Amino acid sequence: KSRAKMANPDGPKVTFDDVAGLTEEKEELEEVVDFLKDPKKFIGIGARIPKGVLLVGPPGTGKTLIAKAVAGEANVPFFSISGSDFVEMFVGVGAARVRDLFGEAKKNAPCIIFIDEIDAVARRRGSGLGGGHDEREQTLNQMLVEMDGFGVNEGIIVIAATNRVDILDPAILRPGRFDRKVGVGRPDVKGREDILKIHAKKKPLGDDVDLHEIARTTAGFVGADLENLMNEAAIQAAKNNRGYIVKEDIDKSFIKVGIGTEKKSRVVP
Ligand code: ATP
Repeated sequence: KSRAKMANPDGPKVTFDDVAGLTEEKEELEEVVDFLKDPKKFIGIGARIPKGVLLVGPPGTGKTLIAKAVAGEANVPFFSISGSDFVEMFVGVGAARVRDLFGEAKKNAPCIIFIDEIDAVARRRGSGLGGGHDEREQTLNQMLVEMDGFGVNEGIIVIAATNRVDILDPAILRPGRFDRKVGVGRPDVKGREDILKIHAKKKPLGDDVDLHEIARTTAGFVGADLENLMNEAAIQAAKNNRGYIVKEDIDKSFIKVGIGTEKKSRVVP
């Protein structure tokens, strides 16, 4: 078994509308959506679509979300796995999982393979103590073999995510592999407001809640932080048997999730 999970095949699809901000990122991925919708159109004209797209950015900025949205927009299956699922004690297990994953994807093409934390498996080779032949290297080698092995036009796009592009083995960035890089940055104030709007959609707000103001006071927050903030506020409201969120809930939520304090030590690039 590859351990890959096919995301809720019959459930509601994530689309670009669920992803706030990230306008340029969405534009860059639009091409992948078009390809997955109609691979033949691209093949017919001899266009080469990237097999692999690397999403690079800090944790919680929406890399997984936007990858899911690509699958949702194109209406194709989404196989997701974490790089750390490939890292195993026993030699050969990781490589076998990689093989199974790509095998499964081929049967379901057109589709997306999403590999979160690709750095867990694709860190630079030859830096370990195992004389350069450890389990991780075998797994990485297998991944390279699989990336090279499927045709450009088989309708498989591999999207991988990392926040450590600096430690990746250069081999995975070569043409025909992950040769397209898309930076997924922290949201600016407008982006934060849009993210808050999305996560406030199903949450009634009191008159004293001003999402623009919250966006202004949350510099450095990523989407995952903002989602957490709104969720915690909703819990506060429910605890108080109130059917809507008031400013006080948001203020309490700030303290509860402790983002404010943690943030001080976090480096904002
Ligand atoms: P990690 O590197 O930790 O896996 P990630 O970049 O893949 O993080 P996601 O898992 O996509 O981040 O984001 C976590 C959650 O934060 C999402 O499920 C979503 O609810 C919210 N979120 C993040 N970015 C956005 C965004 N741009 N618009 C709306 N929601 C967002």
